[in-house]
Amino acid sequence: MLKEKDLNKDKSVKNKLNCINIVYPPLIFLICNFFVITNLYAFTLATPLQDGRLIQGSLAKNEKLFYQDKQIIPHSTGLFYFGIPQSAQTPLLLTFQKENTQKQIKLSYEMRHWQTDIVNGLPQGKVSVNIKNEQRIKKENAELKAERRKFIADFFPTCFSRPVQNYRLSGSFGAQRILNGVKGSGHGGTDYAAPVGTPVYAPADGLVVLAHPDMFLTGQTVLVNHGYGLFSSYSHLSKTDVARGDKVKRGDKIGEIGQTGRATGPHLHFSFFWYETRVDPELVFTDFSCQ
Ligand SMILES: [Zn+2]
Repeated sequence: MLKEKDLNKDKSVKNKLNCINIVYPPLIFLICNFFVITNLYAFTLATPLQDGRLIQGSLAKNEKLFYQDKQIIPHSTGLFYFGIPQSAQTPLLLTFQKENTQKQIKLSYEMRHWQTDIVNGLPQGKVSVNIKNEQRIKKENAELKAERRKFIADFFPTCFSRPVQNYRLSGSFGAQRILNGVKGSGHGGTDYAAPVGTPVYAPADGLVVLAHPDMFLTGQTVLVNHGYGLFSSYSHLSKTDVARGDKVKRGDKIGEIGQTGRATGPHLHFSFFWYETRVDPELVFTDFSCQ
């Protein structure tokens, strides 16, 4: 994380950042392409600000930050995460509190361009679903959502590793999907294609909060709570090695790649969340690499 004193030490870095000064008395924020730095307070954001990206920042002990009425709870080290939704409205509105002062912060961020993916060959019954299956999807989504609202403080991962070692990237996060000729929603995860039976590993320590044997869209599905609002999910598995309530360490086996649910071939559909906000897993693995 780069703080102002580091920027001052290294003028060449400061010059490269093409910064803009915006004054929010008494706070002075220096908004650069990649960094937001307070002159008076410890609040710092240190990840490129883009939609669909997990952001890490830090707060001092007497500072509080809210994102759309949700308090962003920091770890005891002061570090915190939050996610910027795909195609969200810019600017982003944050509320910053320190003792008796409260300020609205408007953060501009880069909007990414999302590709279009054409996916054909899906079973038609999994694309145009009947009422009974629509109700089943709603119920299963509600189950996942209820878990993703829960805050636990048992873990605070600072790095994440990819869940599959040998794979072909077969679907990128955020792509606008045309499923059997019908416009679907943005792709909510990254697809890692590999043969059935390929092991899938936990990207970070966490608690297994759901291990479902057969969801309509995602087949055998696992959801892991990594603490402080961070979640990862694993879809289309052929085998699940964990159960609800299990604690996993980074690198523990979660299950095996399969083709269960709505899939045209064996792959892991892997999603990463900050509560309800889906973020790009590939950026999580590069921004917060364990290497
Ligand atoms: Zn997918």
